[in-house]
Amino acid sequence: MPRDLLHDAAARALRYLEGLGDRRVAPAPEAVARLSAWDTPLPAEPTDPGEVLRLLDEIGSPATMAMAGPRFFGFVIGSALPATVAASWLAAAWDQNTGLHAVTPATAELERIALSWLLDVLGLPPGCAGAYVTGATVANFTALAAARHVVLARAGWDVEADGLFGAPPITVVVGEEAHPTLIKSLGLLGLGRASVVTVPVDGQGRMRADALPGLAGPSIVCIQAGNVNTGAFDPAPEILAWAHAAGAWVHVDGAFGLWAAAAPARAHLVAGVADADSWATDAHKWLNVPYDCGLAFVREGDALRAAMAVRAAYLPTGAPRDPSDHTPELSRRARGIEVWAALRSLGRRGLADLVERTCRHAARFAAGLSAAGYEVLNEVVLNQVLVSFGDPVVTERVIAAIQRDGTCWCGGTVWQGRAAMRISVSSWATADSDVERSLEAMLRLAAGETHGRRAGPGAGGRTDRR
Ligand SMILES: *Cc1c(COP(=O)(O)O)cnc(C)c1O
Repeated sequence: MPRDLLHDAAARALRYLEGLGDRRVAPAPEAVARLSAWDTPLPAEPTDPGEVLRLLDEIGSPATMAMAGPRFFGFVIGSALPATVAASWLAAAWDQNTGLHAVTPATAELERIALSWLLDVLGLPPGCAGAYVTGATVANFTALAAARHVVLARAGWDVEADGLFGAPPITVVVGEEAHPTLIKSLGLLGLGRASVVTVPVDGQGRMRADALPGLAGPSIVCIQAGNVNTGAFDPAPEILAWAHAAGAWVHVDGAFGLWAAAAPARAHLVAGVADADSWATDAHKWLNVPYDCGLAFVREGDALRAAMAVRAAYLPTGAPRDPSDHTPELSRRARGIEVWAALRSLGRRGLADLVERTCRHAARFAAGLSAAGYEVLNEVVLNQVLVSFGDPVVTERVIAAIQRDGTCWCGGTVWQGRAAMRISVSSWATADSDVERSLEAMLRLAAGETHGRRAGPGAGGRTDRR
């Protein structure tokens, strides 16, 4: 066995992880330029694996974005917990194709057990079926495939057998602020990206319960738990009562917001959500497992299996839970290994602390920025903060300056017509000192930009790598 190679990999990974706290968050432009060293013709002859690893580390590591570190606040991105990195290394060595329980009992059992823990911490009905997929996009797709099956079966139509040609129409209702990947999933399912009924939202991006449309016939209603910009939650109890009275299926996109259930002080935000029919979330966001891992849950397990299971003479059946009966994939890595490791290492209390602590960090950012006179555009109920530094040009310049500076990393957005910087605190690794250090950098750079130091024509920071 290549002992030296694997020890070398561990040593290099450790060096990388231990350097994350001190390095700049975005890679230096020179490091990115050096990536061209990889761009050679395919070698005709084999290369020593140790040399391959050296090429990866020496060229790649400096050009990475420090997402695994404590001061990356872009998008909604967690860092891999130490237990999950270690589990992932071992899992790579196991190399189990976890489609079928009979063939890969250890990893299939881990996934079955972690699924029941997930339902517990997320406050979902204990009997739900679940699927480990690549992310919330595919989790939405997977759960909505089960929804499509059920609402058409109730209308006497077998969508898996007969497709959508000639099928009864399905009314799909979403909020104006539904995540674009939810809309994409609807398109992949043949339900149409543009043929949805859109419900208007309030100033936080929540569906307006006073503006729900009439519903008749096969219907699917998609609600959101955690808006990607504001962290706001659609009013689940009102929407569920209306949708279920009309016989509609209710799906929840809770890519990160569903995890509010795990922290007692935030659990009120998901009130009523457990009464839905299906849910999608991510583990690679707030649970802090390595990429990639999303989760779909469906109350009526047979619906999920009707949409996803396949049979073939060469595939054994009859196991307690065959992962591939629940997922779009047949061959697959057991993403539940890292989920199991995260939950096993955190415990209920550690998970609650992680969610609560990151929300507290977000509130500290909002307070520090407001105190300095900058406008926070959202009600900071969760781990998301939107801040404006003035007009769109100034806000863009401040974001660019922050990204260039490298102390931390935040991205931009436009919230209801206003340019804003997004701060999303999702990493287990972020400490109070990281928040203070990042806030100090933000305020220093914002003061520089807003006081016109760089405000001359052509002096804007728009040439950076965004
Ligand atoms: C991140 C996110 C998604 C997409 O998740 P991926 O893991 O990137 O596929 C969908 N919906 C919401 C609300 C999100 O925040």
